[in-house]
Amino acid sequence: MFDRKAYMKEYNKEYCRTHKKELKTNSKEYRRTHNEEIKACRKEFYKTHKEEVNACCKKYYKAHQEEIKAYEKEYSKTHKEEIKAYRKEYQKTHKKGIKAYKKKYLKTHREEAYRRVRKYNKTPKGKVNTILCKINRRKSLVSTPVYLKITSEDIKALLQKAIVCPHCNKVFCEYLFMKKSLDHIIPVSKGGLDTKSNCQILCLTCNVKKGNKLESELKRKKRRR
Ligand SMILES: [Zn+2]
Repeated sequence: MFDRKAYMKEYNKEYCRTHKKELKTNSKEYRRTHNEEIKACRKEFYKTHKEEVNACCKKYYKAHQEEIKAYEKEYSKTHKEEIKAYRKEYQKTHKKGIKAYKKKYLKTHREEAYRRVRKYNKTPKGKVNTILCKINRRKSLVSTPVYLKITSEDIKALLQKAIVCPHCNKVFCEYLFMKKSLDHIIPVSKGGLDTKSNCQILCLTCNVKKGNKLESELKRKKRRR
């Protein structure tokens, strides 16, 4: 008996094999001229087959995980600038959404988020960042001109250079009260500027003791005792 189904299947297969190039250009042309239609069709299909599509995607991702990861890595390497620009644009246009998402995330992942921040604050970059944040929080009486302002590079250099606290002459260490901290020689609240020459590294104990006093006031206090 003649099996029509099997014959058609075989015929189609053979046709695809022999007309590969033609079919490819045809479909490319079709996709180009019917772009909007295809997009709408896909959207409609996704709406009605959401679960199926998602399951299929998941399955595909699981089976091709390594390939996809490698492709993404390669893509991000070759399209660095594009991705950066896209992210910037996205952050600009989705400000509200991002803020709401962050708020929601913090509510449900509080512990995790804090742990991550604490870990970041222990890295060299994080240390500099916390100091900079502290400086920014305190409002100076006299605003420091931008070109004089201490930079994160300066702070990094100061932190690296500091070995001994100039007030108590003790060596800095990881012990909480002997940790390095940035101090304004003339306190910001007394008109000191956020400049490199007005900054020094003190241990946390001496920095807390000094508070917003001047060095001369400190010495007077010591003599009185
Ligand atoms: Zn000290």
